[in-house]
Amino acid sequence: FTALSCGKNQEVIKDENSSVSSNIESKVEDLLSKMTLEEKIGQMNQYNGFWDVTGPTPDNGDAAKKYEHLRKGYVGSMLNVTGVENVRAVQKIAVEETRLGIPLIIGFDVIHGFKTLSPIPLAESASWDLEAIKKSAEVAALEASAAGINWTFAPMVDISRDARWGRVMEGAGEDPFLGSKIGVARIEGFQGVDLGLEHTIAACAKHWAGYGFAEAGRDYNTVDVGTSTLNNIIFPPFEAAVNANVRTFMNSFNELNGVPATGNSYLQRDILKGKWNFDGFVISDWGSMIEMVNHGFAKDKKQAAELSATAGSDMDMESYAYVTELANLVNEGKVSEDLINDAVKRILRVKFELGLFDDPYKYCNLEREKEVTGSQQIHDAVLDMAKKSIVLLKNENNILPLEKEGQNIAVIGALANDKTSPLGSWRIGAEDGTAVSFLEGMKHYPNNKISYAKGANVITGDASFPFELNINTTDKSEFSKAVSTAKNVDIVVMVLGEHAFQSGEARSRSELGLPGVQQELLEAVYAVNKNIVLVLNNGRPLTIPWADAHIPTIVEAWHLGTQSGNAIAQVLYGDYNPSGKLPMTFPRSVGQVPIYYNYKNTGRPTANEPNSVFWSHYTDVSNTPLYPFGHGLSYTTFQYSNLNVTVKSENEVEVSFNLKNTGSLKGKEVAQVYIRDLFASVTRPVKELKGFELVELHPGETKQITVTLTENELGFYNNSGDYVVEPGDFTVFVGGSSNTALENNFTL
Ligand code: BGC
Repeated sequence: FTALSCGKNQEVIKDENSSVSSNIESKVEDLLSKMTLEEKIGQMNQYNGFWDVTGPTPDNGDAAKKYEHLRKGYVGSMLNVTGVENVRAVQKIAVEETRLGIPLIIGFDVIHGFKTLSPIPLAESASWDLEAIKKSAEVAALEASAAGINWTFAPMVDISRDARWGRVMEGAGEDPFLGSKIGVARIEGFQGVDLGLEHTIAACAKHWAGYGFAEAGRDYNTVDVGTSTLNNIIFPPFEAAVNANVRTFMNSFNELNGVPATGNSYLQRDILKGKWNFDGFVISDWGSMIEMVNHGFAKDKKQAAELSATAGSDMDMESYAYVTELANLVNEGKVSEDLINDAVKRILRVKFELGLFDDPYKYCNLEREKEVTGSQQIHDAVLDMAKKSIVLLKNENNILPLEKEGQNIAVIGALANDKTSPLGSWRIGAEDGTAVSFLEGMKHYPNNKISYAKGANVITGDASFPFELNINTTDKSEFSKAVSTAKNVDIVVMVLGEHAFQSGEARSRSELGLPGVQQELLEAVYAVNKNIVLVLNNGRPLTIPWADAHIPTIVEAWHLGTQSGNAIAQVLYGDYNPSGKLPMTFPRSVGQVPIYYNYKNTGRPTANEPNSVFWSHYTDVSNTPLYPFGHGLSYTTFQYSNLNVTVKSENEVEVSFNLKNTGSLKGKEVAQVYIRDLFASVTRPVKELKGFELVELHPGETKQITVTLTENELGFYNNSGDYVVEPGDFTVFVGGSSNTALENNFTL
């Protein structure tokens, strides 16, 4: 498409959509008018379905109850039912056995792929490559939809500044601008141009809201944040998701400023459905309605149902609160039927949009399932994404890229030989052991001699639930073998880091170093051979100051998914020149957390000013991070020059600069543009990312890059929640990380 014809097409699509949507609205109204109160509440109820639904009908307990409810039309959605045959079986009950035959919407956590896994979302975010991220979501939707799934509980758009929080692996990092762009790319990938197509699925922006700001990074913990942080840091990716037409939202588990999110009218009614006019539906998180009793907000399940419905939670995930309590609450006049109608309309609307009423079995095509699952197309996309997600943190002496022949290479570390951990956390659709390990990836380069020693395990025993304290191994019995393997080789590649299940939900950590005895292993090997390439596998920023001070080459490879080993090998050998940039600050010490690039100045002098003793600092560690947000190297080098800023109008500023590839290899750079609003009615951060461009340059090539800052980038939310662009002085910064290279001032 040319830009012009693309624009025209969008017009056409829009026109069609408006007639389609008015058509849908009348169908929704019509169906609603036929529904009993119980049937309406049924639509608001979602059950988990971890049993094999094609097997015999369970005749006792929970599962039997769920079956009974399904048959009566008291279930609107199920999660964790996957595979065409299973989905067909439950759908058949909903469609053929209930009075109105309303199809189920089938949800699943397609967080970074379904069976074939792409990198964990934090890793994908390190690519800053919106097209690739969109593509990754697109193939995830392709594979999941072929297994009967029509709704994913993704993207997680929670911003977090705290690497202790295990779920940072599932998000886009610390920055609201980057996080918004990435969230939108994922939504566009999942939902495609038309939700009615068989390979697109509904997306879900979660967790609404504040989940990433859990105190001390402990998952589910209290969240207490002020207006400015809420409006400027936490909300923007959610607002962007609404603007990108995300069809669903999920509540968060946490309380926000004293009110649990699931019972929070301010979040759901005032902001989401009020100010932002969201017309999709909100699902609770798993059991989050009933959790309001533990929070000390609802006195029992009945009140939890009342508070949730009143606040705007449209669907109950596994609290059993709506299905058991809501009808009584309506009959007693405590919850109005209008609220129920509103919730049901939202849910039915999405079901119509998905085309489930036209063909409830459209996602149930066995042949398609066979053809699509694990297809070459999906593997190609996840490999591409994995390469783009790798960040070269350090490359002294240009040890990388490796020579392709004649080298003696020792590979050390249990993660190097692991076919499961690279899959990362949140991989419930995938089978263990399906990742390409690092050692397997290295086999594609047969002209070097590889020797391997584990050195030490990362964890003891089985890593599945429950995953608890003291699981790091303390066993050093294989150190000596690793040391002798490393002794006389040309290069040692050490693959160290976190096991997949050391990050993710309920996997917060209070220490952020290499878990277990891996730090000691690293030092023991370093003592005999300093030519080390450290490859990190992890789901969060780590504190590795010793490694940074001693190890010449460090590659951040995260948990890269099914194609992990192939991606890392191609990068180490230079068949792919890395271009990833950190989406989250790496601290020097856990005591610096929360540490983030878009901090604010205090009123105190800075380090170099007089009276600097009393500046805001620590006495035992510097204020600076180990690796800043936006940092990442390449096998080539880039130079920024000629920064020009032109104020075009009171809300349009053009920033242009030159970027030159000054090295000897073709490479890609993420050129980043930041601003600072120097004085404002609400204090502003010292730097805020406001634009970036991924540019590929040949050696010696220079390109002029122009980024236009508009109203959307120049303003902020004040403490009344209004978005304002305030005239005054600004600084603009550009460079290859948040430690920028050039700066210039302008006045609005
Ligand atoms: C998580 C959600 C997830 C849900 C369903 C919850 O524990 O917080 O993010 O979508 O489970 O699996």
